[in-house]
Amino acid sequence: MIREDFLPLAKPDITDLEVDAAVEVIRSGWLTTGPKVFEFQDKFSRYLQEDQPLYTAGLNSCTSALFLSLKALGIGPGDEVIVPTWTFAATSLVVEWLGASPVLCDIEGPSLNICVKDAQKKITDKTKAIIPVHMAGYPCDMDGLETLRNNYNLKIIEDAAHAIGTKYRGVNIGNFSDVTCFSFYATKNLAMGEGGAAVCRDNALADRIAKLGYFGINKDAFKRYEKAGTWLYDIEEAGYKCNLDSVHAALGLAQLSRIDAMNDKRRGFAAQYREGLANVLEFTEDSDEHHHVFHLFPIILPRQADIHDFIFRLKERNIGSSVHFTPLHRHSHYSDRFAPELFPKAESLFGRVVSLPMCSKMDESDVDYVVSHVREILK
Ligand SMILES: *Cc1c(COP(=O)(O)O)cnc(C)c1O
Repeated sequence: MIREDFLPLAKPDITDLEVDAAVEVIRSGWLTTGPKVFEFQDKFSRYLQEDQPLYTAGLNSCTSALFLSLKALGIGPGDEVIVPTWTFAATSLVVEWLGASPVLCDIEGPSLNICVKDAQKKITDKTKAIIPVHMAGYPCDMDGLETLRNNYNLKIIEDAAHAIGTKYRGVNIGNFSDVTCFSFYATKNLAMGEGGAAVCRDNALADRIAKLGYFGINKDAFKRYEKAGTWLYDIEEAGYKCNLDSVHAALGLAQLSRIDAMNDKRRGFAAQYREGLANVLEFTEDSDEHHHVFHLFPIILPRQADIHDFIFRLKERNIGSSVHFTPLHRHSHYSDRFAPELFPKAESLFGRVVSLPMCSKMDESDVDYVVSHVREILK
């Protein structure tokens, strides 16, 4: 039986809690950056932090967070930044916007995460930073990255767009590096529509990123509209315009109160997929040691399967899917600079990785439906 409605790859999990929170802010008369944003920043820091405090700069996207973090850490023309080839455009383009060069490196294998050994091979005396990406919500080898950071005096800026609630050896992602960047884009585990954050261990760095995200104007800028504020403001450096607003922050606060429950649902669906599809295909990595939040549920097709045909047949059965990601070195913008031979692991998986529907809005019968059709297609 083919279901009548289309099962999309993902839907934002919005309830009355989010709707009411947004309406309240809209009615309040304060729409842009203000108290709701500061409350979100505080609560987000407290959600992530372990034994040391964390500081959050709320921004309009993860892309902005990555860009401003690199900028605040002094990355600029002539510098090299190592980026895994298996990621979204944002991770490497932000490096180019600063006049620096992204240096692509291979992935480990089925985790789809950065290969620390290959990253080490790509280090030159121009290398200033590495941007690891926790693919699908599975943590990167943070111990390996920490060793590189110490041995080569590098900055680590994590792309944690998929990884809110992810833990590495039981510790929340957000506690490991100079800056960790999160996305609250419509499809992400915590959805605002558009939004992002840079989370820092150093308060001064978080303030600097927030300032760069608002024209380089000092941090009390938004108080100037209040009775207690002063009329005087100062542009301290050439900043940008990437601030988070109160409507999105209100959505974020409501989502944050539900994030663990939403992530648990995803983990339950992932377990159900794994059980249902065991012996039919391979999965990306998971382990008891780490806490995977399954922003995505990527599967690895058997070598002989045809990905176009597979996706087409899913569609015929009203099942959405997607590919995360086409490796960067496979795109026209990069293919002149980076030959496929440089990325044996990514090449062996390219064209075989497909994301199946995954979001906390689904239910167990949706997963059962996908499982039975994937089994049938691959028979
Ligand atoms: C979504 C995504 C981003 C960008 O997030 P935005 O908030 O849309 O800017 C960056 N990196 C990865 C890996 C992503 O999936």
